[in-house]
Amino acid sequence: MSDAMHRPGALNKLRGKVIDYATERMNLDPAPLDSPRTLEELTKEAGQTITEQGLGGERALELFAEVLAPATISIDHPNYLSFIPAAPTEASSLFDLVVSASSIYGGSWKEGAGAVYAENQVLEFLAKECGLPAGSGGVFVQGGTLGNLSALVAARESAKQSRGAKRWAVIASVESHSSLKAAAKVMDIEIVTGPCVDGRFTEAGAREAISSALASGLTPFAVVGTAGTTNFGIVDDLAGVGKVAKEFGLWFHVDGAYGLAGILSPNHRHLYRGVELADSFIVDPHKWLFAPFDACALVYRNPAIARAAHTQHGDYLDTLTETGDFNPSDHAFNLTRRVRGLPLWFSMATHGVELYRKAVASNIDLAHEIANEIAARDYLQLVRKPELSVVVFERKGWSKVDYQKWSDDLLDSGFAFVVPSSHEGKPNTRFAIVNPTTKYSDLVQILDSMR
Ligand SMILES: *Cc1c(COP(=O)(O)O)cnc(C)c1O
Repeated sequence: MSDAMHRPGALNKLRGKVIDYATERMNLDPAPLDSPRTLEELTKEAGQTITEQGLGGERALELFAEVLAPATISIDHPNYLSFIPAAPTEASSLFDLVVSASSIYGGSWKEGAGAVYAENQVLEFLAKECGLPAGSGGVFVQGGTLGNLSALVAARESAKQSRGAKRWAVIASVESHSSLKAAAKVMDIEIVTGPCVDGRFTEAGAREAISSALASGLTPFAVVGTAGTTNFGIVDDLAGVGKVAKEFGLWFHVDGAYGLAGILSPNHRHLYRGVELADSFIVDPHKWLFAPFDACALVYRNPAIARAAHTQHGDYLDTLTETGDFNPSDHAFNLTRRVRGLPLWFSMATHGVELYRKAVASNIDLAHEIANEIAARDYLQLVRKPELSVVVFERKGWSKVDYQKWSDDLLDSGFAFVVPSSHEGKPNTRFAIVNPTTKYSDLVQILDSMR
């Protein structure tokens, strides 16, 4: 029968098994770190999985549980310290299941009003936390890359209203994220970078970059400050950079994909002075707001500007866009969208903001404690004093090859995932701490393994 895949209840037994699997995964304490396998190994063990007749749900689930899932690294493992990890709360993971089961279209108010209302409360909370005025708003998009692109498209669209340009440019720092370059490529514009002082973009750096852009015949339209650089977790001098942006009549965008969550910690709020000047900002719940992949909160001071830039028009859409309703999709480069802000909403509604403040603060405190331990060990050297929850350090005398071998051994042993990195051509490694279950004693054990 052609409706065999859709009849409610037809898969009751399988439903139980899938939900049991999800429950078991959430009960693992911790989930095994696991490790990647080669294509040859997976081909041998999993074989051809897409067939005309299907494998049957139980076999497919078994394949996933026994072969495929162990070949994926558990990003929420407490000793996954590479890149920027993720550590979803149980409440947020649970609600991701609900979102999946609920078939909600999150692009328009008409179709998703209840869910959009909840998402918008989270965006309003974030806007308020950053000192943006009432009326600010935006949308949860897939990730920071798309958030940055969408904000910059809105910024340029807005600049076009008042001036023309032979060649548009965005001003950013040498420590800003690679996604800005990716956005510039898509937009066919230039990125002009200014220098940092101790990893921080300052008023002087922003001025220097603007002058150099103007001297090259470019027309800057936006300045980007980073609230928590990816490599070092340093917050730019947002007050200084924002001031320069305003002085030149440029859009001020704050890229806080990783680090803007740190503003929730009362003891670290002061680091973000100047974020209230932002015309737009992003922060990724899947990085440091303890939500599952994937979500980026994109907020505009004046959402109407974003709508003018992003609203799609078509005969089939006018019934949605001509209502005057708040349609999330009109604020970014997207149309159909999952209500990917709901897992964060549910978790925040469940636990309250105070627990988030404590969890974020505990990550920063742990990073500073382990940095002190690193500084005290004669075979290690801090590359820079940490500010938020990223600690970058060197093992004296090690080459890139030594770091890689040590890193591979750590992963093979199932204890930790810490990859080599580098700064100014010198190899190093880093701990990015966003998981409240990461233990000081485990970090010490990792340092011991480098002796
Ligand atoms: C991670 C990151 C991004 C990109 O975010 P994705 O969600 O990975 O697309 C942008 N900016 C900064 C500062 C980041 O750390």
